[in-house]
Amino acid sequence: MKQEKAVVVFSGGQDSTTCLFWALKQFKEVATVTFDYGQRHHAEIECARQIAEELGVSFKVLDMTLINQLSANALTRDNIEITEEAGGMPSTFVPGRNHLFFSFAAVYAQAIGARHLVTGVSETDFSGYPDCRDTFVKSLNVTLNLAMDAEFVTHTPLMWLDKAGVWELSDQLDAFDFIQQRTLTCYNGIQAEGCGVCPACKLRSQGLEEYLKRRMV
Ligand code: ZN
Repeated sequence: MKQEKAVVVFSGGQDSTTCLFWALKQFKEVATVTFDYGQRHHAEIECARQIAEELGVSFKVLDMTLINQLSANALTRDNIEITEEAGGMPSTFVPGRNHLFFSFAAVYAQAIGARHLVTGVSETDFSGYPDCRDTFVKSLNVTLNLAMDAEFVTHTPLMWLDKAGVWELSDQLDAFDFIQQRTLTCYNGIQAEGCGVCPACKLRSQGLEEYLKRRMV
């Protein structure tokens, strides 16, 4: 795989930055694609741009604000509160979002001659978004190959990891400090440790705590 080119679906957050480091070890050439879907905080895209620049990979932003014509959700509308509902979908959920984004990433990958697609989706921690599941990703891979007469290979290095496992992987990739200090996961647009109270921050810090405990043993 070291000879080949990959596109990483990239947001500047902990997960996709871990995937970017992973891809840089696997592939000769790595490109990133970021989606502008009218995030509450443009800081997210700026953070992604800075990381891509620093790691020397190309950075492409695709305008996906059209998904806001389809549904209202808490990631893009300031007047909707970010909530976690037991058993239900969180208010950050946009139906089909990963499906759409990933399909656009594949079209971009083909345009730049990349066969490998890398995404940080995971079945473990993520509120049950159906288009984060392994079976969906595999199914879409088949569909994309049929749709585009292509031979895409989709990689999901985080699929079976919990947040502590993602921290562990970043450590194995010698990227632990970088990811801790430079990525943005927080729904309130604050880099590194974030606001500490939103669901994304809680998930990130719980995972970190768990991993650090494990690392000390
Ligand atoms: Zn936060």
